[in-house]
Amino acid sequence: MLPAFVTALAFASRRHVGQLRKDGRTPYVNHLIEVCDVLVRDGRVGQVDVLMAAALHDTVEDTATTFDEIAQAFGDDVAGLVREMTDDTTLPRTERRRRQVVHAPHLTDAAKLIKIADKISNIRDVVRAPAPDWSMDRRRDYLDWAERVVAGCRGVNAALDAAFDATLREGRTALGINER
Ligand code: ZN
Repeated sequence: MLPAFVTALAFASRRHVGQLRKDGRTPYVNHLIEVCDVLVRDGRVGQVDVLMAAALHDTVEDTATTFDEIAQAFGDDVAGLVREMTDDTTLPRTERRRRQVVHAPHLTDAAKLIKIADKISNIRDVVRAPAPDWSMDRRRDYLDWAERVVAGCRGVNAALDAAFDATLREGRTALGINER
């Protein structure tokens, strides 16, 4: 269990080597570790397949990794979850975003948990360590969109839902948005 998770995290760290988050200084792997940390601490998630998929969730979208490689190394269940987390990068950004909202309710329960943890991590970054060229409007829009995606993922893990709500609330306060 634990060795398999560490192997997945090490695999992801090698694939994302040299990549940074949007702030231009945080190593990309910090995001993967944070998503796992949110699942474990906020969601009390202990299923190793879910945590492995969380560590690997951006490898196909953002590196040269294929689903076949993931399946070979970590099994079909983990590869299936990574597939659920992977956007079609041939599509324009607005269409990818629209699809995430539409597809969210149809994800498996495990993918919904990873999706919520991913959005928690991304919101924290957009609030605390944004891309230097993102306007305040763009940052606020990101929070609104993340809320719409997560609306389709609720009801699996109440603690994780609550953690998302708290993150969104704190983020909006930090960005100067009043409660609606
Ligand atoms: Zn991610």
